[in-house]
Amino acid sequence: MATLRFKALDEISRRELIETKLSDKKISDYFGIDVFDREKMRQYLPKDVFDSVNTAIEENRRLDRKVANQVAVGMKAWAMERGATHYTHWFQPLNDSTAEKHDAFFEPLWGGGSFETFRGELLVQQEPDASSFPNGGLRNTFEARGYSAWDPTSPAFLIDRTLCIPSIFVAYTGEALDFKTPLLKSLAALDRAAVDVCQYFDKDVTKVVTTLGWEQEYFLVDEALFNARPDLAQTGRTLMGHTAAKDQQLDDHYWGAIPERVISFMKEFEEQAYRLGIPLKTRHNEVAPNQFECAPMFEEANIAVDHNTLLMTVMRKTAAKHKLKVLFHEKPFMGVNGSGKHCNWSLATNTGVNLLSPGKTPKTNIQFLAFFVNAMKAAHDYGTLMMASIASETNSHRLGGHEAPPSVLSVFAGSTMNAILDQIEARISDKKLSPDEKTEIKLDIGKIPEILVDNTDRNRTSPFAFTGNRFEFRATGSSSNCALPLIVINTAVTEQLIRFKNEVDALIEKNVKKDEAILQIIRKYIIESKKIRFEGNGYSREWQEEAAKRGLRGIGNVPLAFKEYLSPESIALFERHKVLNKTELQARYEIKNETFVKKVQIESRVLADLAANHIIPTAIKYQNVLIENVKGIKEIFPKEFENLAAEEIKTIRQIAEHVKYIREHSFEMVEARKKWNNVDNIAERAIGYETEIRPFIENIRYHIDKLELIVDDQLWPLPKYRELMSIN
Ligand code: ADP
Ligand code: MG
Repeated sequence: MATLRFKALDEISRRELIETKLSDKKISDYFGIDVFDREKMRQYLPKDVFDSVNTAIEENRRLDRKVANQVAVGMKAWAMERGATHYTHWFQPLNDSTAEKHDAFFEPLWGGGSFETFRGELLVQQEPDASSFPNGGLRNTFEARGYSAWDPTSPAFLIDRTLCIPSIFVAYTGEALDFKTPLLKSLAALDRAAVDVCQYFDKDVTKVVTTLGWEQEYFLVDEALFNARPDLAQTGRTLMGHTAAKDQQLDDHYWGAIPERVISFMKEFEEQAYRLGIPLKTRHNEVAPNQFECAPMFEEANIAVDHNTLLMTVMRKTAAKHKLKVLFHEKPFMGVNGSGKHCNWSLATNTGVNLLSPGKTPKTNIQFLAFFVNAMKAAHDYGTLMMASIASETNSHRLGGHEAPPSVLSVFAGSTMNAILDQIEARISDKKLSPDEKTEIKLDIGKIPEILVDNTDRNRTSPFAFTGNRFEFRATGSSSNCALPLIVINTAVTEQLIRFKNEVDALIEKNVKKDEAILQIIRKYIIESKKIRFEGNGYSREWQEEAAKRGLRGIGNVPLAFKEYLSPESIALFERHKVLNKTELQARYEIKNETFVKKVQIESRVLADLAANHIIPTAIKYQNVLIENVKGIKEIFPKEFENLAAEEIKTIRQIAEHVKYIREHSFEMVEARKKWNNVDNIAERAIGYETEIRPFIENIRYHIDKLELIVDDQLWPLPKYRELMSIN
């Protein structure tokens, strides 16, 4: 009785918590309240079931049916107590969004009445009508069968009275149709390879997890102004618009005061995030006006990826309540900085060691060096593939500009690490070291932490920078799912660690001492990966030339970058570690190209429509005003007419020329689209769109932007940059 009452009270206080405003509470009071996490599983599941789930999570195993049934019962009980009416498998199809299909717990009974149900099978497997998700030809639509299944490593959560079950999404034939499946495989592969290497240093290491801390940049725009810009609404970026007289030149936005309306939006989405267990830490203004960033405390990579996609949804929804639109497009405005999603990547052991953080002893530091150098070597060997992983239509507007990473991968190690790498290269050889030499080297290596702590040199222009205890991959675009770059980095590093282990073992077999063998192979990789190291300004023209001289291959245009997925080396890499097979890569390649074509196609259509229906009529209207005016001047000042009206006549001519250009080229652009649409091969069509259609879009824009400067502001039909970029 007593416990029951206690439970009821607990229930009341819990409900109270849900209903009262959370902003008055401490974050820790409600952090994760909407997540069916381990703590809640412990409460709602029988002990043996809880233990089985835990083991499944730890060992990356599937849940068996019986356990699933019991988990489903517990999950449903928890969700319904919290007012949930529906459940959905929540997954990440291959189009940079998330998908859900909501089903009610409610089941009407034959002959009247109803009950609420949620069986184990539904937890383990659901069949969304998958035909509408991109599949790259993997499934014919007539057998639109794919299934989703709970990923127990990611806890279920509640949004809008719906229980969301993070899931993988696979075709019936077994191929992955999502980001999560290969991500999980890459995490498992890296775990195994890293544990094997850790065994040289610490026998207690039995699990290595990848950690990810993302930094999400975004723009905010007033909703009414957004809706008045068909280009923004339909493509996510402005296809026209002259830069405002004042934008980011004064750098007064960065770290500046955040406007009140924005603050209240941030507070609300942060509150949602905390409820969902997303550990947001920082918020600040970015360089461009109305550009902001938020970043959480890093987490295990699978969860971090889920949290990023989830937060993007939460932000969109919350923005609507504040009459704002959040823009995740990488380059919504020409001439001001774009948005990225830095991915901070590292590895952590079950013994609590960050493998990319120098330790306290020579032994832990050799371990650190081994992981550091292997990551660098992986970037050296698979740098182009890494860059391909972030290539997209939207990100291409940002990359290679003067504010975003170049299209060639390089590694910034920092002066301290460079000195250490150079020393190892100079001092170690494949000859046997004398005991004195050994002691000296060990002493040096033992000193790494002191030096690093003092060393705060940062290079913000490097795409892959070592920042003291992690690598930061900065080329990822703000709208993308960070799973893809992670899949590539993880798989490349897995490959590298396995090679490392094999090479060290081979030396040990030849009776070289373990430490010495490790150092020798580290040195070998330092030498082999030298050309990937670059400490200078990654945005400079000199670097582009230098990179070419070094033979570093960047990604050229976007569709060419996609080809990297299908190079024999890439296929071999992914197949060897069972992360993606050739069919899956082929499908992804098709989807990438398809998405690219669609995006350019939409931009091109929207631009042509706007030009024909908004811009040209407006320009002509203003031109007629000028023409009338010139006629009037002529009437009043017949003698001085030529002198007085000269400038206006010039303007009338300029308008005529711009209009003519826009008309002619819009027409040619449509013809070019028709031509490329007839090309069946999607990759070829994408290249056609890149080389022929995109230049049209840029050139037409140029002339529209010129008109914007000429035409009467009162007549201009679209909100201008200076308006879009201010929030009051
Ligand atoms: P900056 O703006 O200088 O790049 P921030 O403080 O905005 O840095 O972001 C740093 C990010 O790095 C945070 O998301 C943080 O959680 C993450 N991070 C820190 N340590 C690790 C680690 N060991 N593994 C992964 N991410 C990490
Ligand atoms: Mg960063």
